[in-house]
Amino acid sequence: MKEIAYSRKIPLRYEADICVLGGGIAGVAAAVTAARKGVKVILVERFGMLGGNATSGGVGNFSGDTMGRGRFFDDCLAKLEQLRAIVPYVPGKERVFNHHYLEIILQELALDAGVKLLLHSRLADVIVNDGHISEVVLCGASGMEALSAQVLIDCTGDGCAARYAGFRTMKGDTHGAQLPMSEMYFVREVAQEDLIAVYPDSKRYETAADLPMTTVWPDGPGSHAIKLKVPRFDSTVTASLTDAEIEARRRAMAVMEYHRRAEGRPWNFDGMSPIIGIREGVRIRGDHVLTVEELREGKTFDTAVAYGDYPLDGHDPRDDGRTYILPKEERYVPRYQIPMECLVAADGDNLLMAGRCISADQLALSSARVMPVCAMTGSAAGLCAAMAIHQSGSVRDVDYLSVRQMLTSEGADLWV
Ligand SMILES: Cc1cc2nc3c(=O)[nH]c(=O)nc-3n(C[C@H](O)[C@H](O)[C@H](O)COP(=O)(O)OP(=O)(O)OC[C@H]3O[C@@H](n4cnc5c(N)ncnc54)[C@H](O)[C@@H]3O)c2cc1C
Repeated sequence: MKEIAYSRKIPLRYEADICVLGGGIAGVAAAVTAARKGVKVILVERFGMLGGNATSGGVGNFSGDTMGRGRFFDDCLAKLEQLRAIVPYVPGKERVFNHHYLEIILQELALDAGVKLLLHSRLADVIVNDGHISEVVLCGASGMEALSAQVLIDCTGDGCAARYAGFRTMKGDTHGAQLPMSEMYFVREVAQEDLIAVYPDSKRYETAADLPMTTVWPDGPGSHAIKLKVPRFDSTVTASLTDAEIEARRRAMAVMEYHRRAEGRPWNFDGMSPIIGIREGVRIRGDHVLTVEELREGKTFDTAVAYGDYPLDGHDPRDDGRTYILPKEERYVPRYQIPMECLVAADGDNLLMAGRCISADQLALSSARVMPVCAMTGSAAGLCAAMAIHQSGSVRDVDYLSVRQMLTSEGADLWV
């Protein structure tokens, strides 16, 4: 492939103590938790809204127990409950919520905490020397601009900061195959006379067995959210991600046509999530790599900053069906801990990570990627970063036991 050299001066427009990259639930948790400790935080998000998979991905369902996840997650729950936008708590049960409301809640929590938001800003590059990221290059509505921060937290899900810095990352299984993506689309039940036509020329599924893995969730009175498996694409390759989006829309039309014709469901199309749901992007190699064996044995860590309790949810990346990497009897894990060392990038001196790019093997992450856990790792990374700013500036000088203590004092239940 031909290469070009490119060089230009760009404004160093922003300075912060901490820069959080990616405004999904992990990124917002990190930014809010850090800002509440009195440091200057900028949160960079490529889209015009916060929430990532939880909002722009349309995933309105918290898996695992929602109790004991700490102050930030408790605040999200309290607001959703106040708005009657989440189903009631039942210990250990999933909780469906209204993702449109979460988008607003996350925005207001961030602003209340004093986080500066940079929406429509995409991390495009980093400037790195000897493992220290001094500036990040953003591309936003104003064009290319730079930001400097003492500590960075990569919450992009795709390990963008680590990849651009040349730090070690991990993707997919031993062949690099990521867990499959899925698309969320929405339908509304209407009277027969109000049905609008389904898109013509869509593929025809003749029987239920021909459908790709399809899950129907409630989404308010008379409405449903439908999750559709779209496997065999790569979230780190532009052409592949483009093909995934195209395939997702075509599949949604074909599945809608099947639901109408074969099952007689009077469902009108209400729209699709703006971006396909990416279960697994790129995990960043940290000071510790959490393994599926550690989950299975319920290994404990003094430096635990989050807990997980969801089964190993490794959807098979290679086929369209409701298939898993592991048989059902091997998917259970006891409640387990995630140590702070999984949130510290091994090759850097000022890069932390949270959410679905923490340092874990593929199967361990297949459990730890659920939203309540992402919120916990985000809060831990934000707190550690703020403590670093108040001390020497270095994240590895922070006493991780005090991170654990402070998270516990703010409602995180870190015991197993
Ligand atoms: C189809 C599907 C179903 C799921 N079902 C459930 C479920 O039932 N229950 C559950 O609890 N969890 C579920 N999950 C998992 C969960 O939704 C995600 O793992 C979690 O939301 C990830 O949060 P995050 O903040 O780590 O990443 P994300 O939500 O992906 O956020 C990353 C953010 O970074 C931004 N970003 C990325 N690159 C850049 C860049 N270069 N510059 C700036 N910003 C950038 C993105 O726009 C995004 O906002 C599901 C996931 C999928 C895909």
